[in-house]
Amino acid sequence: MSVKKIDHAKVKSLVTELLTALGEDPTREGLIETPRRIANFWREFIEYDAGKLDTTFSAVKHNQMVAVTGMKVWSMCEHHMLPFWCEVSIAYIADDKVLGLSKFARIAHKHAHKLTLQEQLVSDIANELKEVLGTDDVAVMAKGEHLCMTMRGIQTPHRMISSALSGKFHKSAQRAEFFRLVD
Ligand SMILES: [Zn+2]
Repeated sequence: MSVKKIDHAKVKSLVTELLTALGEDPTREGLIETPRRIANFWREFIEYDAGKLDTTFSAVKHNQMVAVTGMKVWSMCEHHMLPFWCEVSIAYIADDKVLGLSKFARIAHKHAHKLTLQEQLVSDIANELKEVLGTDDVAVMAKGEHLCMTMRGIQTPHRMISSALSGKFHKSAQRAEFFRLVD
């Protein structure tokens, strides 16, 4: 999998400039290593490698709903460049392919490690699952808290809930079952 690269030296020098613009002295003891630490953080965040995602196992026809809930991922709001975290729940109807459990977490982390929005994150996870599983019968829900709302602006702790349902999850029975499982 190709991973995006950041310009580490440029990020470092921009953080030094930012500190100056904030009225700080970037050469004082507490800040001297800060630009390097922040550039390291961005490298770790953006250059995240989720590993192999597409290992599926062939299964006998199950026609079973499989749900994985409560996977916590951290991401970064593209409107404010502040972190948000989400608990991601995924479900699919296992037909002739099933996916190893850790792959759900890998897919969630992969799409969380970039500047994005929760709605986009949920769609990206759903689209990748459809591709990997070869089925449209996929549902993804995220419950998130966004620091851009908790620590700035209206300054209110909250949960934002968003979901993407497709295929059989448009049917009311499957939809109800999904929301019952992930609640
Ligand atoms: Zn935001």
